[in-house]
Amino acid sequence: MTPVHVGMPSARDAPRPRDRPDTPDLIDQFGRTARDLRVSITEKCSLRCRYCMPEAGLPPIEASKLLTPGEIARLVGVAVHRLGVREIRFTGGEPLMRRDLEQIIRECRSVAPHTPIAATTNAVGLEHRARTLVEAGLDRLNVSLDTIDQNRFAHLTRRDRLDSVLTGIRAAQQAGLSQIKINAVLMPDTLDGSADLLSWCLDAQVELRFIEQMPLDAERAWARTTMVTAQQLLEVLRRRFDLIETRREDPSAPAERWIVNGGRGVVGIIASVTRSFCSDCDRTRLTAEGTVRSCLFSDRETDLRTRLREGASDEELADAWRAAMWSKSAGHAIEAVGFVHPVRSMGAIGG
Ligand code: SAM
Ligand code: SF4
Repeated sequence: MTPVHVGMPSARDAPRPRDRPDTPDLIDQFGRTARDLRVSITEKCSLRCRYCMPEAGLPPIEASKLLTPGEIARLVGVAVHRLGVREIRFTGGEPLMRRDLEQIIRECRSVAPHTPIAATTNAVGLEHRARTLVEAGLDRLNVSLDTIDQNRFAHLTRRDRLDSVLTGIRAAQQAGLSQIKINAVLMPDTLDGSADLLSWCLDAQVELRFIEQMPLDAERAWARTTMVTAQQLLEVLRRRFDLIETRREDPSAPAERWIVNGGRGVVGIIASVTRSFCSDCDRTRLTAEGTVRSCLFSDRETDLRTRLREGASDEELADAWRAAMWSKSAGHAIEAVGFVHPVRSMGAIGG
């Protein structure tokens, strides 16, 4: 199938009804193939980042609706062996809030021994589990850290836990996770501290990636007019660092990367709003309740948990997953007139 450009959706991008080609992969009507699986495993979190969670936290998911480690591993097996998924990333909510995270990783490792397993975490409490997570089979880690200023961290996350995050990052490095990436969401409050954060990351030898804030906050306070753009960030960083843009090797990798000070390190910028990468999106998502979500911004979900519990075969689960991805929308349309904020916030989908 020939891929078509789907950067920002418009009426011209509306899918024409036609049959899905007979391929096992997770293809969609716009020619994209999903290879990167994000699995949310909880709605709970130890922080309350203002761009994500409400102050009171998300409404709790009933225990009976949450996928068990065995169910997660079964669906991961379907994704890897029948649908062509090549990377699994656990997210949430906060994955470390699940006491059985090691078991989840161990069971997934055993069904998919050669597939990279990653997690996105706020690193609170990671110091106590970094080693056991690596022993269970964790390969890669992304840590969310928006500022290294203690007061601003406490304000932004509504919790005074910066020390625990920094200790967690060091523990992960000591446990052998060599490719740790730091994710920082761009916010007006932290913009002028972004150069300090980059400096800290260069010293700690972790790669920093800034992400434009998307309208996925539970409190719906996001506004296009007040969000910090990649361009504004570059202006701030250039006051302190020499930045040279690199060529993007993998088109589905969302970050644009810049070499800092002649090779001291690299900084990435994910301009998810102002330079949408929807046309190259290769993600498929599973929520903590076991529904497939084809796009962060689409409220359409396909329930695999009920099918699984009612005895569906692996091929039946794979078919339902394929159908869910086939109708993936063209793009997020954040900049379009009439954009509608999705019902679930980032913490309830899994970023
Ligand atoms: N709790 C973990 C963490 O913070 O890394 C994993 C879940 S969190 C929802 C996953 C990622 O989504 C984090 O890197 C976070 O910064 C990002 N995120 C949350 N809300 C966002 C928003 N409104 N726009 C852009 N990124 C967001
Ligand atoms: Fe929790 Fe992560 Fe959302 Fe922050 S971004 S509130 S750490 S789920």
